[in-house]
Formats: sequence, structure tokens, C-alpha cells
Amino acid sequence: APTLVWFRRDLRLSDHAALDAAVKRGGPVIPVFIRDRAVDALGTAPQWRLGLGVGHHAEALKDKGSRLILRSGAALPELRRLIEETGARAVYWMRAYDPLSIERDSEIKSALKDDGIKVESFPGHVLFEPWTVETKTGGYYKVYTPFWRAVKDREVPEPLSAPSRIPTPESWPDSETLDDWKLGQGMDRGADIVRPFVRLGESAAQSRLGAFTGSKLEDYPDLRDLPARDGTSNLSENLSLGEISPAQCWHAARRAEQPGSWAASKFQQEVVWRDFAYHLMWHTPQLLEQNWRSEWDAFPWNEDERRKEVIAWKQGRTGIPFVDAGMREMYVTGRMHNRARMVVASYLTKHLMCHWRIGQKWFEDCLIDWDPANNAMGWQWSAGSGPDATPYFRVFNPVTQLDRFDGNRAYTDRWIAEGKSNPSDDALAYFKAIPRSWTIAPDDTYPDPVVDAAEGRKRALDAYENRDF
Ligand code: FAD
Repeated sequence: APTLVWFRRDLRLSDHAALDAAVKRGGPVIPVFIRDRAVDALGTAPQWRLGLGVGHHAEALKDKGSRLILRSGAALPELRRLIEETGARAVYWMRAYDPLSIERDSEIKSALKDDGIKVESFPGHVLFEPWTVETKTGGYYKVYTPFWRAVKDREVPEPLSAPSRIPTPESWPDSETLDDWKLGQGMDRGADIVRPFVRLGESAAQSRLGAFTGSKLEDYPDLRDLPARDGTSNLSENLSLGEISPAQCWHAARRAEQPGSWAASKFQQEVVWRDFAYHLMWHTPQLLEQNWRSEWDAFPWNEDERRKEVIAWKQGRTGIPFVDAGMREMYVTGRMHNRARMVVASYLTKHLMCHWRIGQKWFEDCLIDWDPANNAMGWQWSAGSGPDATPYFRVFNPVTQLDRFDGNRAYTDRWIAEGKSNPSDDALAYFKAIPRSWTIAPDDTYPDPVVDAAEGRKRALDAYENRDF
């Protein structure tokens, strides 16, 4: 009898334990993707990117002689309908670790088991499942370095190859069409601008990884912090939708390791930051929504998104070049360099004293590499409210950060048009991507700072020191 493989944020064929097990079980395999509430709840850019990913994955399955059946609605009734239509006796999927998926998946697992269906979920979205990493006293890790030490010498299973053949059913159940779903419709604000920056699908992700380990890995420790240099793997976009697995990244780095060099290990450490974010989200799901350190609830955060400085921050018009360059890079490419993410997040939460949730939500609307755990951890880290966070009094100075990490201004020149006689194509593309209601133009005067770097720092530190929280 057929096995349903329910794809979610794991749009790949290789190193896919659920697909592999379904093929090995024997009998036809029916791949399915369900547009449920979790999909509808995604921010604009992540939903649009997911739509592209699902379309690409459907093509990849087609190349293997298989198909991707698309359904919309609540997942349990849709799976039950498919079971009835196809006679499937088993449903397999890859595990997710965010609270809403866990709730949904456990409910589905027990309901289908009650129906007499074999249900199995498989690991692979992270290297080390959150409950498998424990402190000596049996708790979870709240600080990264000991987490890294606990996992760095563990055996990571070799990634599975893609099945050479995916057995097909005699007849296929009906499928909806992706075009009708209109995923990420809100991207009419600039999809054409962002699209060329997208590296879509499993084979693009594998080429990216190959190019990175082949020629960029050795310089990674030196270049990864420089936003004007293409010194990182750029794989976050693909990891976010499971177009590549973290185990594939881990093993590729290990294979490329040079004697005496720590570059591969540095890259593995970054990939493990992602695992750490999942570890924290699984053990303390409030990471996604509330101050992880509840004493921060009493901090006088500004939560009003209509304030002019919040609007200026979103529009990349704060008058602080490093911040504005980062915000524009995100709007045009759907991604932002990690150094810039730290600078824009520090500026919003400290200089502008805005709640980190405002930034978290805006990133969730704009990033094509949006990841629930990484985004929440990054914001709480920057704001000082998270575990292993930068202390609040460590206010990144966006001016000295720029001198240090973009000394020749290649990054700000790439993204800021105002005041330049010959602005770059990317700086101009920003004005094509933004909504018309943002009445700003490349020949405007570059704004004065909404909050001056030194003044904002003092204000934030005063609020912090006078705290009675
Ligand atoms: P590389 O340097 O090549 O690293 C390889 C992989 O390791 C990355 O793809 C990523 O999966 C993981 N990684 C690297 N750095 C981090 C980190 N600091 N935290 C967690 N994982 C990391 N990353 C996202 O994937 N999605 C997000 O929504 C996201 N939001 C962020 C928000 C803020 C405020 C901050 C400060 C960071 C955020 N990050 C997020 C983490 C980081 O900025 C990106 O993962 C990184 O810039 C991706 O580029 P890369 O793939 O070239 O990374």
C-alpha cells in the first residue's frame, strides 16, 4: 500500500530520512505538500520564497518520475482524505521543532495511529535534536560555548543520497495548482527585484555549498564579518526551507578541512549556532514571543510602530549609513549580512529603544531566509533580553562599527544612492522595490540621523541604569 511523504520545510530529495524510509518500505510513494494555517501565517517574503521552493521541488520530483500533490486546508483532514483516496497505510514526515508544528504534528500522529495508520517522523532539520543535548545536571544549555563543546565531537551520520527511483502509484490523487494559491502575493512590492538574488532549490544549494567549501572556506574566518565581501556561504536561504540539510553542510566542511586550519571548524560552529537556536526554542518556546529574561518586561520599550523613527528604520532612512545600508540590502535581496543584522538590531532596540518584537516582525516580513528560531534568538541576543545575550550596556556604535567592518565604505556605497553622483545599480534598485506609498527618491537629500549615535547611546544607558526592573 502507498506511503504518503508529507513535505513541509524540507524541500529536498537527498538526506531526507522520511523519503528514504518510504522508498525502502516498498510500495508506491505519494509526496504531498499541504497549504495549512502555518503556511498562511508566514510573512510576505518567506511565504513568497516558500511558493518558489514548492514549485521547484515539484519539478525535481517530476524529473524523478514522481509528483508533488498539493492540497490546502487543515493538515489532519487533508491527510485523512488522501489516505482514503489512495489507500495509503503509512504517513512519514521530517520533524519540526517550533511549538505550533509540534502541537499540530503530535495531534496528527495520535489521530492517524488511532485510524490504524503507520506514522513515523524523522530527524534531519537540525544536527542534534534538542532533547539529545543535556548539561551534566540534566538541564538544557543557555550559553552557546558549552553547547558547542558538548556537540563538537559527536558523530554526525553521513547524509543519505537521494533515492534513485521513487515508486509511483497506479493513479495519482488530484492536486491543486500552485498558481491558484498565489503564495506571497504581497511581494508585488518588489518580487522582480528580489528574484535574481534567489538561489532556488536543492541543486542550487548544493552548488552553493560546493563553491563555498571549494574556494571560500579558508578565508571564511577573516572575511565573514565584512559585509562588502561575499565571504560567507549564503546558505541560510536554503537551510531555512530544508533545500539543503545541516548534516550536508557539516560533512562538506569536514571533507574540505585543511591540516592546521580552523576554517572548517569555524563554519561548523556557525551552523551549530542554528542548532543552538532550535535547542533554545524547543526548551523555551517563549523565546519566539516574550522576553526570555522576564525582568525585561518592565523596560520602557517603545512598542508603537507608527513612530517616525520606526518608519525611518524600516525604510532605511535613519541617517545612520550602516543601518540604512543593511535595511536596504534586506529589501532588495531578501537577505542581510550578519554584521549588518547585529547593527540594525542594536540600533532599533538601544538607540531607538524600540521593542525587539517590532524588528523581529519586520524581518519576518522581509527575509527570504527567515527562520523562526534564528530570527528570535538574533533579536533577543541583540536586545539583551535573551539567553547568552549581549549585555544591554554593550551598545554597538554604528559609526565605529562601520569604520571597523566597512572601512572603505564599499558596503554603504553599494546600498545608499542619496548624495552620490553615480549611485550603484543596487542602490537604485531599492527605489524600484519599495512601495509607492514610501515617497522617497534617490535624489532626495540623505537624512540627518533620527537619533544621533552618541545621544541614543546615552539615552539607552540612562534608561537601563535608572531601571527599577
Ligand atoms: P554563514 O556564515 O555561511 O553560516 C552558515 C549557516 O550557519 C547559516 O546559513 C545559518 O544557518 C547558520 N548561522 C550563521 N550565523 C548564525 C547565527 N548568528 N545564528 C543562527 N544561525 C547562524 N538567520 C537565519 O537563517 N534566519 C533569520 O531569520 C535570521 N535572523 C536574524 C536576526 C538577527 C537580528 C540576527 C542578529 C541574526 C539573524 N540570523 C538569521 C543569523 C545570521 O545573520 C544568518 O544566519 C546569516 O547572516 C546567514 O548568512 P550565511 O548563510 O551566509 O551564513
